[in-house]
Amino acid sequence: MSTDCDVAVIGAGAAGLMAATFAGRAGARVTLLDGASRIGAKILISGGGRCNITHDVVTAADFNGNRNAIARVLRTFDVEATVAFFAELGVPLKREAGGKLFPVSNRARDVIDALLAAAHAAGVTIVSGEKVTSVAVLNGNRRTFLINDHLRAENVILATGGRSVPKTGSDGSGYALVRALGHTVTAVFPALVPLVLESGHWLTALSGSSVEADLLVKGPGGRILQRASGSMLFTHFGLSGPVVLDISRHWIASQPAALHANLLPGETFESLEATLIGEARRNPMMTIASLLRRRGLPDRLATALAPDATPLVRVTKEERRIIVRNVVDLPLPVTRDRGFEYAEVTAGGVPLSEVDVRTMASRVCEGLFLCGEILDVDGKIGGYNFQWAWASGKLAGESSGRVKGERKPETRNQKLETRNQKLETRTRRSARAG
Ligand SMILES: Cc1cc2nc3c(=O)[nH]c(=O)nc-3n(C[C@H](O)[C@H](O)[C@H](O)COP(=O)(O)OP(=O)(O)OC[C@H]3O[C@@H](n4cnc5c(N)ncnc54)[C@H](O)[C@@H]3O)c2cc1C
Repeated sequence: MSTDCDVAVIGAGAAGLMAATFAGRAGARVTLLDGASRIGAKILISGGGRCNITHDVVTAADFNGNRNAIARVLRTFDVEATVAFFAELGVPLKREAGGKLFPVSNRARDVIDALLAAAHAAGVTIVSGEKVTSVAVLNGNRRTFLINDHLRAENVILATGGRSVPKTGSDGSGYALVRALGHTVTAVFPALVPLVLESGHWLTALSGSSVEADLLVKGPGGRILQRASGSMLFTHFGLSGPVVLDISRHWIASQPAALHANLLPGETFESLEATLIGEARRNPMMTIASLLRRRGLPDRLATALAPDATPLVRVTKEERRIIVRNVVDLPLPVTRDRGFEYAEVTAGGVPLSEVDVRTMASRVCEGLFLCGEILDVDGKIGGYNFQWAWASGKLAGESSGRVKGERKPETRNQKLETRNQKLETRTRRSARAG
C-alpha cells in the first residue's frame, strides 16, 4: 500500500516542529498537522512573549518523572546543542540573571518563524487547521497509519502536548488518540499554575507586591513534603511568581496538604526571635514592622504582619511570638489552583516506561513515536520544559525518519548545512581543547 508520507507528525508545537524538521533532515517525506489555524500560539506567549528557550544548566533533577529516562533523552540534545541549533537558525541566545536563555531579540516571534523556516527547508509539508480525530492502524502486507480517514503514513509522531492553555490548541485531544493506539495515560493535572487563596484573605490586598520566600508543602502531620525557594507574587486572587508556580504541582499532588511560607529565608523561629530580643535591647524604640522592612520585606507586607506601631521594648512575648511565627511559617490557605487555562504545563501523561527512550518509539504500537508534553514529564520554570520538547522532539524525528521511509537524496542546501554543522562542531571542539 503506498503512503502519502513516511512520517506524519501530529501537533506543531515546540516538540512537533523539531520532530518534523529532523525527520525531514533524515530524508523522510514529512507531513506536519496541527488543529490550530495559527501555528505556534504557545511559543508566542511563552516567557512573557520573549520565549525562554532553555536554561544554561539543565539536568534530570529539574524535572518530575522518570529521571533516568529523562536524563537519557536530555543527553542526546543538550543545552550547548540547543544554543548552536538556534544560532544556526539565525536566533542567537543570551543568558539572563538566574541562567534563563532568551533570544537576543527578545522576540518569541523570531523563534517560531525560525522553526517554521527550518521545517520548510527540511521539506516538511505543514497543514494547519486540521485537528486529528482518528489515527487508525491498517494491517496490510506493510503496516501503515490512516489519519483522519485520508492521510496514509508509515510512521506517526504524536506531539499533541498536554492540556495547558487549551485555547492555543493543546486541548488534551491527543490523549484519546494515544489511548486508542494502546497506551495508558496517568492522571493529568495542572503544573506551573498560580494558586487561589481563601476569598478576602489579607494577602490579596497586597496585590502587586513580591517577596523572596521559601515555600513548604506540609503533609497532615506537619511533615515537610516539598520545598522551593524564589520570588512570590501576591495577586488579587492569591499567589503567583516563580516559586509558587514551581511548588504548585507538588501542593496539588500531595492533597490533603498545606502550604506555608518562610518570608525571611534562612531564619528560623528561634533565630528571628533572638534577633528581636537583641534589637529590643539595642534599639528599644524600633518597631517590628521597621525591622522587617530593614530585612527586605516590602513595606505593605511588613505593616500587615506587624501592624501595631508599639516599640519593640513594649511588645509582649506573646505578641512577638505570633509575629515571628507568621514571618517564618506563614500558613497560606490555598483553596484551589487556577486550572489548565492558567497552567504553563501539564503534569502526568503517557508513562516513559511505554516508550523506548533511545528512539522515542512506542513500546506498544509499532511505527508510533511520542515526544514533548504528552509524555509524563514536567519541568521547573526557567526554560526546562522547552528543553524537553527540543530534545525529545529531535530524537523522535531523527529516529522515525531513519527507522523507515525511503531516503530522499540530500539536497544541495542540506549537504551544505550538514557540512557546516560538522565544521562548526569541529571548531567548537578545538576551541574548547585550546
Ligand atoms: C503561558 C505559557 C508560557 C510558557 N513559557 C515557557 C517558557 O518560557 N519556557 C519553557 O521552557 N516553557 C514554557 N512553557 C511551557 C512550554 O510552552 C511547553 O512545555 C511546550 O510548548 C510543550 O511543547 P509540545 O510541543 O509538547 O506541546 P504544545 O506546545 O502544547 O503543542 C502541541 C500542539 O499540538 C496541537 N494539537 C493538539 N491536539 C491536536 C490534535 N488532536 N490534532 C492536531 N493538532 C493538535 C496543538 O494545536 C499544539 O500546536 C510555557 C507555557 C505556557 C502555557
